[in-house]
Amino acid sequence: FSLSQVAKHNTADSCWVIHNNKVYDVTEFVSDHPGGDDLILDYAGKDITAIMKDVIEHAHSDAAYEILDEYLIGTLDDHPVTTAKDLDRDSLHRQRMKLLEEEEESKTYVKEDFKPLETDTITDIKKNNFLDLRKALIPQLYKARFTKEFYLEQVHKPRYMPNSAIFFGHPLLEPLSKTVWYVVPLIWLPVCAYHLSLSLVFGNPLLSVFSFGLGVGIWTLLEYLLHRFLFHLDDYLPDHQIAFLLHFTLHGFHHYLPMDRLRLVMPPTLACLIALPLFRLGHFLFPPMMAYGVIAGGLFGYVLYDCTHYYLHHAKVYKHHFREMKKYHMAHHYKNYEDGYGITSKLWDYAFGTVLSY
Ligand SMILES: [Zn+2]
Ligand SMILES: [Zn+2]
Ligand SMILES: [Zn+2]
Repeated sequence: FSLSQVAKHNTADSCWVIHNNKVYDVTEFVSDHPGGDDLILDYAGKDITAIMKDVIEHAHSDAAYEILDEYLIGTLDDHPVTTAKDLDRDSLHRQRMKLLEEEEESKTYVKEDFKPLETDTITDIKKNNFLDLRKALIPQLYKARFTKEFYLEQVHKPRYMPNSAIFFGHPLLEPLSKTVWYVVPLIWLPVCAYHLSLSLVFGNPLLSVFSFGLGVGIWTLLEYLLHRFLFHLDDYLPDHQIAFLLHFTLHGFHHYLPMDRLRLVMPPTLACLIALPLFRLGHFLFPPMMAYGVIAGGLFGYVLYDCTHYYLHHAKVYKHHFREMKKYHMAHHYKNYEDGYGITSKLWDYAFGTVLSY
């Protein structure tokens, strides 16, 4: 059958549906459907593969698939075969994004003076059964036994509190969890200058300038790769509470409470852990006369990135590029966190095909 042939059978008198590229005549079954006949008729003449898997919309048991088999009348011709894995991925993605759509912010984030609604902490814990925002978050996450899917769903669902959340809840540890944004340039610009001066020792300023520029360029790629593959490790995350804790500390928290001013930029200790292997990589890939310059450029790019990230979240941004990037990044938080990984520009999103439309 062709798609258009199937599409004609879209009434209670003749109701055909497509499932996994097979065509079924379910006319007799329509009135017996446990979810009501109107629900099936909504999809009469259409492909129901995804909708049958979509748990939120409409849960189906194995028995449902067996019943479906009884009504098989043929297959769909010339139709690209989508694998079961793709479908799982697709329906999972749609299910996750649906949770974001439920929130008011999914409609208001494009506004210039966007401000999220304050989360009612009591309703939030009652409704979602995730973390209690009134108490220290890390101990709760450590003790809880969330499934990975539930953790990922909940942690990416943004909440908002006007004040900073409690992280460790320990008087000595708590200050360590907070980083004011200007700490980033204050600490890393001197390190950047130090590497640049080491580069100049080799006596070739032109090569230093070139290496520095190269380093900034490499950083823009790193910004994308780190955000997409390390911070949003998500589905490749080991199914273990400790892994959730690391994910939460690294980037999960920022999606959970995107506007928390003191947990937005990377704490210097965490940045060190990420930077040291990258410094080594730089020295491995480039000769000494270039490596210091490249690292200096990379650090400079990082400082610009982290400050830009804070700026996009908390400032009334200036003019075209930043205005665009602010909406783009808010869309990453409030509409679709599985796309739109660029913070300072969309360059690598275009290159890797993850541009987010909003
Ligand atoms: Zn993520
Ligand atoms: Zn952000
Ligand atoms: Zn993110």
